[in-house]
Amino acid sequence: MTPPKVIALEEHFTSPGLRALRGEKDTPVQRKLDDLGELRIREMDEAGIDLQIISENNPATQNLDAETAIKLARASNDVLHEAVRRHPDRFSGFATLPTPDPAAAANELERAVSKLGFRGAMIMGLTHGRFMDDKRFRPIFERAVELDVPLYIHPTPPHPAVQEVYFKEYLALAVAPLGFTLETLTHTFRLVVSGLFDEFPALKIIVGHLGETAPFLLWRTDNILGERAPMPRAFAEYYREHFWLTTSGAFSNSALTCSIAEMGVERIMFSIDWPFMSNRAGRKWMDAAPVSDHVRTLILGDNARKLLKLS
Ligand code: MN
Repeated sequence: MTPPKVIALEEHFTSPGLRALRGEKDTPVQRKLDDLGELRIREMDEAGIDLQIISENNPATQNLDAETAIKLARASNDVLHEAVRRHPDRFSGFATLPTPDPAAAANELERAVSKLGFRGAMIMGLTHGRFMDDKRFRPIFERAVELDVPLYIHPTPPHPAVQEVYFKEYLALAVAPLGFTLETLTHTFRLVVSGLFDEFPALKIIVGHLGETAPFLLWRTDNILGERAPMPRAFAEYYREHFWLTTSGAFSNSALTCSIAEMGVERIMFSIDWPFMSNRAGRKWMDAAPVSDHVRTLILGDNARKLLKLS
C-alpha cells in the first residue's frame, strides 16, 4: 500500500443511529453524509484526495443523555470501522465520544484507537453547555495522552444564552459565518488558560477553519494575557506547541499565510469539511496557494501522516 499523499481530516458522515434519532431529512447533503462508499470515493477521486479521516457530523453525541450517548457513539464508531475495513486505503476515522459520561468517553476512545485503529477523536464543542476545560472531562484528555492520539475540537452553535444576546436579530450569523468561530475560539483559548497543557504536556489538539482566527489574534492575546492570567509559560507558546490547524472550510490565501507565519509550516494540514465544502474547490485552492511545492506537500499530507502516524 503506497502511503497517502493527500489527506483530509474534517470529513463527516452520519451514522444510522444518530440520523434516526435526529430525524434528518433526505437532502443532497444528507445523502453524502449517509454514504461511506462509492459516492464519497468518487468525489475524493475527482479532487485527488487519497485518504479521508472520517468523523460524525455535528452535533454527534455531545448533547444526548449519557446512556444514549454511550450506545450511539459505540454504534457510530462500529459503522465507521466497518467502512474503514472495506476501504482501508481510502478511509480512516476519528472516534465519536460519549462526553456526557467522561469515564465512558475515555474508554470508548481507547476502544476506538486500540481495537478499531482510529487515529484520535473529534469532539463537537460544548457538552450540555460545558466546555472541555471543565475538570469532569480530564479522564478524556488523560486517555488521549496515554494513547498518544490528538483530539479534534470542532465547532458547534454557541451556548443558547450567547445566541440570545449576540445573534437573536441576526440568526444567520449564529452558525458558520461567525457563531461557530466564536464558540471554538473561546473553547481552545479556555483550554490554554485552564492549565490543561501544564497537566498534560504531551496533549495534541487539532482545530479546523485555520484555527478559527487564532493565528490572527496570537500576538494581542499573548501581549495582554500574561498580566491578567499569569501562567507558567506565554499563551502563544502553549498554542504553538499543542495545536495543529486544518484548512477545513477556510480556503483563504491571506488566512493561510497568517497561519503559516504564526504556527509554522508543520502545523497546517489540508482539510475540506466535506460535504459542506467541495473537495474540488478545496484542492483547486490549495494547488494554487502561495506556498512552495515543498510546503504544499507538507500541508496536503506529510504533516497529517506524521501527526496521525499513518504509513
Ligand atoms: Mn466540520
